[in-house]
Amino acid sequence: MSNIRKSEKLVTFDETSKSVIKPDPCSRAWVEVDSKAIENNARVLKNYIGKDCLLMAVVKADGYGHGAETVAKAALNGGADTLGVATLEEGIQLRNAGLTCQILILGNLINSEELYSSFYWDLIPTISGIREAIICNNIAKHKYKKFVIHLKVDTGMTRLGCNCNEVEDLVSKIDCLDSISLQGIYSHLAIADEDNLNQSFISFTQIQLNRFEKVLKDIGVRSNSLCRHLANSAGTLSNKQLHFDMVRVGLSLYGYLPINNFESILNLQPALKVKARVTLIREVQEGTGVGYGHLFKTKRESKLAVVSIGYADGVSRALSGKISASIDGVLVPQVGSIAMDQMVFDITDKPDIRVGQVLTLLGTDGENFISPQYWSDLSGSIPWEVLCSFRNRLPRVIT
Ligand SMILES: *Cc1c(COP(=O)(O)O)cnc(C)c1O
Repeated sequence: MSNIRKSEKLVTFDETSKSVIKPDPCSRAWVEVDSKAIENNARVLKNYIGKDCLLMAVVKADGYGHGAETVAKAALNGGADTLGVATLEEGIQLRNAGLTCQILILGNLINSEELYSSFYWDLIPTISGIREAIICNNIAKHKYKKFVIHLKVDTGMTRLGCNCNEVEDLVSKIDCLDSISLQGIYSHLAIADEDNLNQSFISFTQIQLNRFEKVLKDIGVRSNSLCRHLANSAGTLSNKQLHFDMVRVGLSLYGYLPINNFESILNLQPALKVKARVTLIREVQEGTGVGYGHLFKTKRESKLAVVSIGYADGVSRALSGKISASIDGVLVPQVGSIAMDQMVFDITDKPDIRVGQVLTLLGTDGENFISPQYWSDLSGSIPWEVLCSFRNRLPRVIT
C-alpha cells in the first residue's frame, strides 16, 4: 500500500470510472428549457413596452424553475435591461455567474449583515421604511459609492412596502441621508391576473394605480428622477397605463399568459418541457388495481406504461388520475396515484409504445400543448407554482 503513489493511482481510477458511469441527463426524466424561447419572449415584451420603458426580467426561484443563470442571460440577450430576484442568495448567484447588470432584490432584507452583502455585491435592496434606509446609509458611509435603493409602497397588496401616506415624508428623510441614492419607487399589483380585462378598467387594479399616481404626485418633481414601476406580467399585458418607467415580468417571460383565456397578440413561446421515459410495459387483466391505494382499477384488459417521474420531481400528487401526457403526438391518460418516483399511463389505445420512449408531460409535443395552467386548474394551484416545483431531482437540459 505505502508504495503506491496515491494521487497517480486515484486520478486514473476516478477518471475512467466516472466517464463510464456518468448518467445521461435524459435517461430517466428531465426538464428541457428552450433558451431561445426566453430570448424571443424578452424581445417581444421589450418591443411591446416600447423604448421608453425598461424591461426587468424576474428570475427569482431559480428562474421559475428554468434555471436563473440561463434565463437571465437569454433575457438580457433578448433586450431585458435589469433583473429581479427575491433573495440575497439569488442575487449573489447571478453575480457569481458573471452578470453585471442592475439586479433588484424584491424581498425584504432586515439586518445589517444582509444589507452589507447586498452593498458589496452591488445588489439593489427594496426598502419599506426608514429603519433599513438608515442601516444602508451607515453601511455606505465613507465608502467609494452610494448605496442604491428602491423604495416600495403598499398600494393594496398588504405585504411589503410603506403606507401610501408616509411616502412624502420618507422620501425627504431618505434624500437627507448622503450615502444612499434613492433610484426607484415601486408597488405591486394584487389582483391584476384575476381582473376581467375585457371589461372596462374599473377594478382594484385601477384603485392601486390611482394610489400609486397619488403617491407620485405627493413627491412632486422628485418622482421624475426616479424609476417608477408597478406592473407584473398581468399588468404589463393588460394596460399600458400601468407601465411607467419599467415593468417587472416573470410568467410572460417564460412564455405563459398570466390570465386564463387572456387573448394576446404577442408571440410568446413556452420555454419549458417536462419529459420522462417509459421504463416498463405491463399487460394486465380487467379489474386490476394500479398503484398506492388502488385509486384506479382497469375496466378492461389493459396495457400500462410505467414512467419514471413522480411528486419528488415536481409533479403534484393532486394531479393523480387527471392528467395526460403526449407521446408520438397522441395523448395517453395517467392512471392511479402519482407516487414519489413513478406513475403509470394507460396505453391500451396506443399499444405500440416501447420501453425507453419519451413522454411529454408538460409543454409542446407535435400538435399537443400541455400548459402549466391546465395542470394548475386540475390541482387547485396556479401556473407559477407548477413551474417552480421542478427544482429538486430533475436534470435540466438547455436547448
Ligand atoms: C414575482 C414578482 C413579479 C413577477 O410577476 P409575474 O406575475 O410572474 O410577472 C413582479 N414583481 C414582483 C414584486 C414580484 O415579486
